[in-house]
Amino acid sequence: MASIPQDKVQEIRDRLDIERVIGRTVQLKRQGNRLTGLCPFHSEKSPSLSVDPQKKLFHCFGCHAGGDAFDFIMRMESVEFVEAARMLAREFGVDLPEREESPEEKRARNTRERIFRANDLAARFYAKTLGSEPRALAYLREERRLSDETIRSWRLGWAPDVWSAMSEALGKEGVPEDVLVLAGLSARRREGHGVYDRLRGRVVFPIALPGGDTAGFGARRADWFGAEGEDRGPKYLNSPETPVYDKSSIFFGLEKAKDPIRRQKRALMVEGYLDVIALHQAGVDTAIACCGTALSGKHSAQLARMAEEVVTIYDGDPAGAQATRRAAEILLAAGVSVRVVSLPEGEDPDTFVQKHGGPTLERLIREAPSAIDHVVELAAKQNSGGGLAGLVKIVEEVRPLLLAVKDPLRRDVFIQGAARRLKIDARVLSQHLRRPDEALRAPDRELRGQRPQGGNVKEDAVPGIEAAMLRMLVENPERVATAVEAKGAVDAFCHPAVKAAVAAGVQAVKAHQPFDAHRALEAVRASGASDGTIRSLRETLVNSPPGADDVEESLKNLLRREYERRLRDLRKRLALEQDPAAADRLSAEVAEVVRAKASLH
Ligand SMILES: [Zn+2]
Repeated sequence: MASIPQDKVQEIRDRLDIERVIGRTVQLKRQGNRLTGLCPFHSEKSPSLSVDPQKKLFHCFGCHAGGDAFDFIMRMESVEFVEAARMLAREFGVDLPEREESPEEKRARNTRERIFRANDLAARFYAKTLGSEPRALAYLREERRLSDETIRSWRLGWAPDVWSAMSEALGKEGVPEDVLVLAGLSARRREGHGVYDRLRGRVVFPIALPGGDTAGFGARRADWFGAEGEDRGPKYLNSPETPVYDKSSIFFGLEKAKDPIRRQKRALMVEGYLDVIALHQAGVDTAIACCGTALSGKHSAQLARMAEEVVTIYDGDPAGAQATRRAAEILLAAGVSVRVVSLPEGEDPDTFVQKHGGPTLERLIREAPSAIDHVVELAAKQNSGGGLAGLVKIVEEVRPLLLAVKDPLRRDVFIQGAARRLKIDARVLSQHLRRPDEALRAPDRELRGQRPQGGNVKEDAVPGIEAAMLRMLVENPERVATAVEAKGAVDAFCHPAVKAAVAAGVQAVKAHQPFDAHRALEAVRASGASDGTIRSLRETLVNSPPGADDVEESLKNLLRREYERRLRDLRKRLALEQDPAAADRLSAEVAEVVRAKASLH
C-alpha cells in the first residue's frame, strides 16, 4: 500500500476528533477536562480508559494501552498505520491524493482487484456445484454434521472431477485466462492452448480475508472418488502464493472470528478447516487455523494486535506436540499468553464438540494450563525416571519457551513454577537459562522490535516535576516555553527524554510553529527513549489534574533543584581541590549559584 505524505498525516492529526473516534466503541463520560470509559482492550468493570480531547491522546491506567487516534484505530480494527490513516482521512474530510499511487502500485491494485473478483466468482461456482455432487453434500452433512446454514455461510463448495469446468464457467463471465492463472485457480496446459482447473474432485473451502474478500481456497480430496490405487494428490490442497494470498499471514476463519476474538481478547488456534467450522457451529466462535503452514511471526504479530491470549488445540501426536511448542514460542515472543488444551486420545476438536458439545470444550479452554506448564508436564512424563540426564532433557525442552517470555516478571513466575514441578532450585534453573555460551535470542528474527516490551528495562523514572512541566508546556506552549527560555532552564531538566521534548517545544515556539502532545512525544521518541518512558510520559500527559497549574512556581522548584544539585557538585569538588587558584574559581562559582538560588524567592 502506498505510504501517506507526512503533511497529510499532520492534517489528519490536526483535524480529527478523538472523542468521536473512541466514542464510537466506548461510552465516554466527561470528568473535568477528560473523558473516561471502559477500556476496550482489557476486561474491566470500572473505567480506567482516559481520553484527553485537547491533547488527542488516550491512555488506559489498567492495561497501559495508549496513544493517539491512529493507535486506537490500528489496535481496534487490527489494521496497519496506512489503513488507519485512510479511515481517519475519510472520516474527517482530508483528501488523500490518489496521485500518490505510482503506475506500479496502480497496476498491483488492479491485479489484486481482478484476482478478488475471479476468486469470488470461483467460490460461487463451487458453491453452486456442491448441489450436483450428492456424495460431497453427504460428506459435509452426515459425516461432518454441518448444517445447511453452516455450509452456506462458509460458502463451502465442490470442485467437479473434470478438467476445466470452473475455468470455462469463469471464462464465460469474462475472466481472462491470465487472471485465472494469476489467482492460482487454473494452470496452463503443458501442450497446446488453454488452462485447466487446479482443484478437481475436491470439497472446497474458500479462505476469506478479514475484510470479506476471498484470498484463496483450501480443498479436501474426495476419498470416495476415483479408482483404487489412483493417485489423487495430497489430502489437502491450498491455493499457491498469489498477489493476494500470503500463507504466512492468512488465517482461515478470521473473517468470522475477528470480532469475537477482539471482544474476548482470546483466539483459539486449531489445525484443520473442518475443526474451525465445527467449532463455530458449536458456538465456539473464536476458532481460527493457519492455512497449510506453521504459525509464523507475521501471524503472531497480527494476533498480538487483537488478543491477549491464544489457546491452542492441536493433535496429541508428536507432530502436534511439536507444532504446539513452536507456536507457543513464537506467540510468547510476541507478548501473547499461550495456553494449551489437550483433547483425549484420538479426538480432534471437530469430533470432540460433536460428542460433548461446545460448552464442554469451553470449560476445557478455561481450565487449560499455560503452554510452559504444559510442556514441562509433558517432558516430565516422557523423561520420568531418567535421573539427571532426564532432567537436563526436560529443561532443554522448556528452555526456548521460557526464553521467549520477554517480560522479566512473567518469566520469573514461569521459572518458579517449572522449578517447583521439577523439584529443582529456581535460581539454578534461572542460571541454566542464562548460560553464557548461548545469548538470549528471539525465536523469530522478524519479531524483533515489533512490540513494546512492557516493563522489560529498568527505567530511569521521570521526576514528577519534570513530567508536570512537560504537561504544562504541551497545554500552553507559548507561555511555558517563553518562561523556560527566559530563565535558561532547558538544562535544568535531567531526564534526557523530557529535556529533548522541552527543547523541541522551546524551538517550535521560537520558530512560531505549533507544538502539541503529539510533537512532544515524537521528540521523546526521537531522543531514543524506551517504550516504557514514552508510556509513562503519555500517562502524565493524559492524567492532567483539572485546575490551575502554577508555571512560575514549578519553574522555580525545577531551578532550585538544579541549583542544589550544582552546589552539591561544586562543594564536593571544592573539598578535593588542591590548587588554590582553581579553588578560588570554584568558590566564585558557588557564590554565583547561591545568588541565583536566592533570587528565586
Ligand atoms: Zn485497558
